[in-house]
Amino acid sequence: MRLMVLPCDGIGPEIMAATLDVVEAANTRFDLGLEMHEEEAGFASLEKHGTTLRDEVLDRARSEFDGVILGTQSHMDYPPVAEGGRNVSAGFRVGLDLYANVRPARSRDFLPSKAPGMDLVIMREATEGFYPDRNMYKGVGEMMPDPDMALSVRKITRHGSMRICREAFKLAMQRGRKVAAIHKANSFLMTDGLFLECFRAVARDFPQVETEELIVDAFAALLVRQPEAYDVVVATNFYGDILSDLASELSGSLGLAGAINANAETGLCCAQAQHGSAPDIAGKNIANPTSLILSAAMMLTWLGERRKAPPLMDAGRAIAEAVDHVIAEPANRTRDIGGQTNTDVFGRLVADTVSQVSLAA
Ligand code: ATP
Repeated sequence: MRLMVLPCDGIGPEIMAATLDVVEAANTRFDLGLEMHEEEAGFASLEKHGTTLRDEVLDRARSEFDGVILGTQSHMDYPPVAEGGRNVSAGFRVGLDLYANVRPARSRDFLPSKAPGMDLVIMREATEGFYPDRNMYKGVGEMMPDPDMALSVRKITRHGSMRICREAFKLAMQRGRKVAAIHKANSFLMTDGLFLECFRAVARDFPQVETEELIVDAFAALLVRQPEAYDVVVATNFYGDILSDLASELSGSLGLAGAINANAETGLCCAQAQHGSAPDIAGKNIANPTSLILSAAMMLTWLGERRKAPPLMDAGRAIAEAVDHVIAEPANRTRDIGGQTNTDVFGRLVADTVSQVSLAA
């Protein structure tokens, strides 16, 4: 199996190195036959090729690789698109049609958390919504008719809403059989109204799953008040983006939050940390690589389930268990969760643990 690896910007190269250390340990232990190929994206690609993301890289990811591990990008610092500053995340999500951004948030008994008992997954639509670079056929979904007025367009489609809701219900069937749909259909009658209509249509195919519909602002408060009450949460792109950062920070740190972008129909999957490139701590070897490590684990599990390949699923499980095992010990923790351990050392600790951890039957 071939994985494309793109370290990208900010803390990306540091957390990628730690992640690859861990994936290699799983590769050896479970005899996965993984081959990792590094590609450039972000500033490294801009310098060399004049663009932060080449179409050729996307084409190769689509046709020659089984999965992608994507580092973090400093989009805010990129030049305009016309000067090569293409949004790399959006490039992958739209270019590979990775519509399901799966973002778990779980508090751990042994870590300080503002949300004890939380164990939920936010299923975020990732190819449309409010993002100006992914909601128009031609042009961009943001415009300024005059210097003192700015407008945004939000795209919600039946196709996009149906497929993300279906993935949410499928996931709920493997978990606690509850799905909450997040909306603001009281104001956005047509866009959020269409999303809710799709949610209800899909719900009819899953009578075993309990559903609720929550207005986004109320949900933000409820997530803080009763984080343990939610199982799978399905949301359009922008709401899902904000709520997943809130959920993962409540769980302990943004640095703990793994995620994948996936398409259940094509089988393409990309591991990508929930957080950004953290320029404030880049190059210091102090970032927490857990988010990208867990993202890689999620991707191996996802690919294993699709391919009915137990070694891949075991590898995903072993990595997740190794991470918990390592951070349960306060002396092993990185700074964001109260420790002093550096990024590379943390990666090594998890890699060593992956090689030995026993998997519950
Ligand atoms: P970007 O512009 O790339 O989105 P940002 O700093 O605005 O970067 P994040 O990268 O998500 O947004 O970071 C938000 C805060 O969380 C920062 O203070 C950052 O240092 C911290 N943070 C994010 N990821 C990690 C991590 N893996 N380990 C430790 N701290 C992190």
